[in-house]
Amino acid sequence: KQRKSVDIKALFDGIIAKNTTSLSQAITLIESNQQNHNEKAQQLIEKCLPYANKSVRIGITGVPGVGKSTFIEALGELLINLGKKVAVLAIDPSSTISKGSILGDKTRMEQLVRSKNAYIRPSPAGTSLGGVAQKTRESVVLCEAAGFDIIIIETVGVGQSETAVHSMVDFFLLLKLAGAGDELQGIKRGIIEMADSIVINKADGDNKLRAKEAKNQFQKALHLLPINQNKWQPQVLTCSAIQKEGIDEVWTLIAKYIDMTQQNGYFYANRQHQNKYWLLQTIEEQLKKRFFEHPKVKKELPVQIEDVLQHKTTPFAAARYLLELNDNS
Ligand code: GDP
Repeated sequence: KQRKSVDIKALFDGIIAKNTTSLSQAITLIESNQQNHNEKAQQLIEKCLPYANKSVRIGITGVPGVGKSTFIEALGELLINLGKKVAVLAIDPSSTISKGSILGDKTRMEQLVRSKNAYIRPSPAGTSLGGVAQKTRESVVLCEAAGFDIIIIETVGVGQSETAVHSMVDFFLLLKLAGAGDELQGIKRGIIEMADSIVINKADGDNKLRAKEAKNQFQKALHLLPINQNKWQPQVLTCSAIQKEGIDEVWTLIAKYIDMTQQNGYFYANRQHQNKYWLLQTIEEQLKKRFFEHPKVKKELPVQIEDVLQHKTTPFAAARYLLELNDNS
């Protein structure tokens, strides 16, 4: 037996047997950038696919400090007490741009980490958001095959990471803090439209009243939006993650949403739509990568840019020339 080669069969058996050590090894394989690991990972994912898809996927976003890890810890505990198995994955684009990661390290969610019914995996590193998102999506398949029935995907509101997470979950939750009464100031418009629920965290102590005011403001703003395809009217709630207050209301709301969308079919249609989105997204990303990494393109691109700047050629002619270089080999 070769010692170094990856044993896909053993990993698969371990995952199906709900062994989290196997799950971790498998996710490490997905995250590896080695070509032969890539192929093995694909084989493993394909073997797991028939066992996947049976979970509820929840996306959670909010700025650093809003209380994401505290909230996930409280929600996770509640879910585990309901007999569920909870996996928490993260997409942190800051881990691609700089070395630092906004979502931080493994010391987060200390309670949840200790439960055998929870599995927590920090954000993979990567060179692009697309790459990081792909790895997370593939990890979801493995977590589901390993018997996790609630998958929480956490992200910070950086770049397009919210869109990426929104495109891989069934329910998208935005965590907010009560501000100084101008709640809608500085908030990205798109994100309000993506949210199935907005939850105002830290509704405790002196903050309670302001949280309530914020809730009303957001609820009014949400009512102005056209009703979603899924016929769901997004709800605003308040909670205190640290005091574990209002968390059960959040779960009741999510469960209600899942129930409703499974009944009206939107739940399944949305997953199909997401699969199609990721197919096209991946093609786009790969084409771009192949183009820019092509040796001739790499060499000629700076030359063409210079020519365009010097008015020796037009941007369109230069683009056509470079694209043809790529096509011809
Ligand atoms: P994250 O960066 O979004 O993951 O936020 P954390 O969960 O790390 O929380 C940031 C800080 O806010 C920590 O000091 C928490 O203890 C605190 N915090 C989180 N939730 C609450 C809450 O419900 N009420 C109060 N008062 N503080 C909270």
